[in-house]
Amino acid sequence: MRNSFHILFLFLLMICTFSFLKANGEEMPLVGKTIYLDAGHGGIDSGATYKDILEKDINLSIVKILASKLENMGATVYLTRYGDYDVSNIGVYHRKRSDLYNRAKMINESNADIYLSIHLNATNSSTWSGAQVFYDDICSENLLLAQTMKEAMGTKRDISEITTMYFNKQVKVPGVLIEAGFLSNSHDRYLLQKESYQEELSDKIIQGILTYFEHRNYT
Ligand SMILES: [Zn+2]
Repeated sequence: MRNSFHILFLFLLMICTFSFLKANGEEMPLVGKTIYLDAGHGGIDSGATYKDILEKDINLSIVKILASKLENMGATVYLTRYGDYDVSNIGVYHRKRSDLYNRAKMINESNADIYLSIHLNATNSSTWSGAQVFYDDICSENLLLAQTMKEAMGTKRDISEITTMYFNKQVKVPGVLIEAGFLSNSHDRYLLQKESYQEELSDKIIQGILTYFEHRNYT
């Protein structure tokens, strides 16, 4: 009698532990993952602009939403900037290069699994629209992340290889650059300023991250 009680107790304990782990795994699928988020530009570098709408502000806003969602899923998240500033060394002649060098250095010196750079696009033609994912083929992981990200974001624009971007060449951690839309297109511009759209965008990007880690676990 005493033995069967013990067995029943152990059995119940196992069920409880299993359900707890399962629930935790589903809700916190990014436990143990470190993600570096890079909001493009900052400070005197506004990036693309349209009247008083500045790329640097929207980049940071998207990155902060992403960071909070990723942390809620168990990830450790770092940002290259947390406010409206750049990270160049004070007084340097090549400010932009110093800014990009320091961002790359921060990511390289971390134990991040991946990084994402968030930017907005702009061209002379107002008809161009939609998000686009850029990658550097310095490692094969970048192409995989770019492909999963494009699919998760459901964008019509094909992934594109970067061949000249200084920053992306410097970073040794797998990652991609996401141009979240065109400030030069009126519809994109309207959407990109809306918090609800930034949330939606973040959810899609997170789906891309999850799919990427799933692939990496099975290959
Ligand atoms: Zn930019």
